[in-house]
Amino acid sequence: MTTPVPTWTWPEERLQALMNRARAGRALRPATWPSGARCAVTLSFDSDHDTFELRDGGRSISALSQGHFGARQGVPRIRALLARHAIPATFFVPAVTAIHYPDEQRALVADGHEIGLHGWIHERNTLLDFATERELQFRSADTLEVITGVRPVGIRTPSWDFSDNTLRISAEMGLLYDSSLMADVDCYELLLDGAPCGVTEIPVEWIRDDAAYLVMDRWGGLRPQIAPADILEIFRREFDAARAEGGLFQLTLHPDIIGHRSRLWILEELIDYIRGHADAWFATHEAAVRHVLAECR
Ligand SMILES: [Zn+2]
Repeated sequence: MTTPVPTWTWPEERLQALMNRARAGRALRPATWPSGARCAVTLSFDSDHDTFELRDGGRSISALSQGHFGARQGVPRIRALLARHAIPATFFVPAVTAIHYPDEQRALVADGHEIGLHGWIHERNTLLDFATERELQFRSADTLEVITGVRPVGIRTPSWDFSDNTLRISAEMGLLYDSSLMADVDCYELLLDGAPCGVTEIPVEWIRDDAAYLVMDRWGGLRPQIAPADILEIFRREFDAARAEGGLFQLTLHPDIIGHRSRLWILEELIDYIRGHADAWFATHEAAVRHVLAECR
């Protein structure tokens, strides 16, 4: 049994300091999207691959092979699907994934996709001290740049685990955006200790994440509880509402999860559905944020 932290004894200033460490500021919903579109669609794929097992020192070859599936099967199927529809997307890639699968990252960049930061080895930021987190984040950016030839401008923290130092580090790096937080449906300004820091949030949500619905844990009780068709329905309703509001539809998927034969159709049908409206703008996270910042000065 864990010892409860006596937060009821903390002075209000301490609670406020934590809440204000990295907080949502001004909402950033542009009046218009490019080419007269009514809404923006930003698809993202987190290429965790083998790092999910490696990060905790796991030695399960079976679990590693499941991650390997993401590289062998998931990414190629996703690349082909995106190419068929001429859709740009963002892939958030741990540096260790990029080192193990450099050709994959170069091919994605050649296809016109964006590569963003996703930790060194999918480490959990809230377990790290400031110096370690900072060193890993800078080294990850350097590594991705050497491999792809492009310096990443955005970050998605691994497992969306965002420490009270993460924003400070991202601001110091001069990153354009983060995509790990959940305070809004539209992009928003991030405040570091109450002041703008130059980093824009493009928000995520577990509701719009395939892992929340489809992951199982062999040694735990976690099993998928929802049919693929129902996942499509949730994603469709999220898109419908974003379009009705003239806002942003952001989606997080994983090559080793969505890339299976019985699941990739969810993405294909979703794209067909969105394309059926003819007024949605597909963009990388970077392009969406740059547009939002240009419109919301
Ligand atoms: Zn991840």
